[in-house]
Amino acid sequence: MTRRRIGLAVVATAATLLALAGCSGDSSNSGDSSLLPGTASAGATPGAAAAPDTSCNPRASVKPLAALPPPGHMPAGSYMAKIQANGRLVLGTSQDTLLFSSRNPFTGKIEGFDVDMARQIAQAIFGNPDKLQIKVIPYDKRVKSAMDGSVDIVADTMTANCARWKDVDFSSIYYEAGQRVLVSSDSAAKTIDDLGGKKVCAASGSTSYDNIGKVKTKPLPVAKATFGDCLVAFQQNEVDAVSTDDTILAGMAAQDPYAKVVGPKFTQEPYGMAMSKIHPEFTAFVNAVLAKNRANGTWTATYKKWLGAFGAPPAPPAAEYK
Ligand code: GLU
Repeated sequence: MTRRRIGLAVVATAATLLALAGCSGDSSNSGDSSLLPGTASAGATPGAAAAPDTSCNPRASVKPLAALPPPGHMPAGSYMAKIQANGRLVLGTSQDTLLFSSRNPFTGKIEGFDVDMARQIAQAIFGNPDKLQIKVIPYDKRVKSAMDGSVDIVADTMTANCARWKDVDFSSIYYEAGQRVLVSSDSAAKTIDDLGGKKVCAASGSTSYDNIGKVKTKPLPVAKATFGDCLVAFQQNEVDAVSTDDTILAGMAAQDPYAKVVGPKFTQEPYGMAMSKIHPEFTAFVNAVLAKNRANGTWTATYKKWLGAFGAPPAPPAAEYK
């Protein structure tokens, strides 16, 4: 279909962004509760064989610091002290993942659940969540950026998995996502299995791209630099579907009234923040911040702020440590 869908969807995209931005930091939006984790069956889709790598427990992170140093007083010689001396925490993230990290067209600022996770780390280091510099990176540079020190931390809907653990450390898990599929609202497809031979878009360097290639009915994976590019390709009828984490699809469906998210989650995508392995004390610090914020309600408040329109917050993911 349909030129009509293309034209209206593009208008709807702008309108939705404006509506969201108009809430000036408030995440109010109209949501479909079937879009998010815990509201759709988490059972495996028949035929979608995304075999998990069981060579490690990707959820088990470095033990948290026993006690957090007070903001502004990072221990001498630690990586946190280096960040403090630099005057800002450098975050690598996306700018087109609505609800997680996307640019607010009114303020020009990048905001969302992932950005708030990093702001909470900045708060713990500086006593000021605004001491954050955001570098926009594509998905396929997330691991490299954390490894080479061009950013201090990556928070970017990033699945902690064993392949990535070989190159970076992950924080404890801060969000449980899972892969689903977005199709035209008039599509007969009920799951990813129904898209055999159809073009299905995902971002290069993402777990979703790899997972599409493992579906037994053989959808044709199409790689784009970002999921924003996938949405445009979908709206221009260049691809039949987009498949990625339910979180990301929720943001897309909110922008396109001619799209729907179908099928159960057919993978588990536990999100962690990625950091260099060179300074594990920083990962331990981040884990202590996450532990504190799970316990004191900050995580739940962050969920409500960005995802509250999709239903009551689940319990925060339980931390696991090595
Ligand atoms: N969670 C995914 C990853 O870390 C990003 C989104 C996707 O793959 O669709 O690669």
